[in-house]
Amino acid sequence: MSAIILHDKTFVPMISAEEIATRVAQVGQQIATDLADRNPLIVGVLNGAFVFMADLVRQLPINCETSFLRVASYSGMQSTGQVRELIGLDQDLTGRTLVIVEDIIDSGRTMVHLLEQLKSRGAADIRIATLLVKPQNLEVDLKVDYCAFEIPNDFIVGYGLDYDGLGRNYPDIYVYQG
Ligand code: 5GP
Ligand code: MG
Repeated sequence: MSAIILHDKTFVPMISAEEIATRVAQVGQQIATDLADRNPLIVGVLNGAFVFMADLVRQLPINCETSFLRVASYSGMQSTGQVRELIGLDQDLTGRTLVIVEDIIDSGRTMVHLLEQLKSRGAADIRIATLLVKPQNLEVDLKVDYCAFEIPNDFIVGYGLDYDGLGRNYPDIYVYQG
């Protein structure tokens, strides 16, 4: 692995595709054990979670449904602090067990907003699965049920995560260097 340049910024390797695969398999195993008899609805948050979602659901040897929703709260490298509306996810959630699949939890505000909206639609049990969490940045009280990696307060790209549109396609995770 070597550094990548996206627009005007350099990003250096942080977590390899192999390390990611190992943790995703472990998280998948945990979810499968916990929710085997629940026919959970696994909900990926677009766009960032699409790669993690695809790998994670293939580690679930149980009956489950999959879907996606969209919500945006970020532009460039700084949180705008503004959370937009939930788009998609048309099905009936009454009584369902949901697993929300996120790429990264930073302040946690996006997730809190999502939880509120999904609860109000009658979901019985909502779990959170995230590839990454930045514990130092959390501004809200949030129970993260499944997390692959805890990372410091840095800006990262790759494995679904972008910097202004670029970087989602790289299989490894990279961190901003300068
Ligand atoms: P939060 O609402 O938790 O502050 O922000 C969550 C969203 O911000 C994530 O879903 C992601 O889209 C974006 N985000 C937060 N940190 C990073 C980061 O380090 N890199 C990238 N590419 N996006 C991030
Ligand atoms: Mg996201």
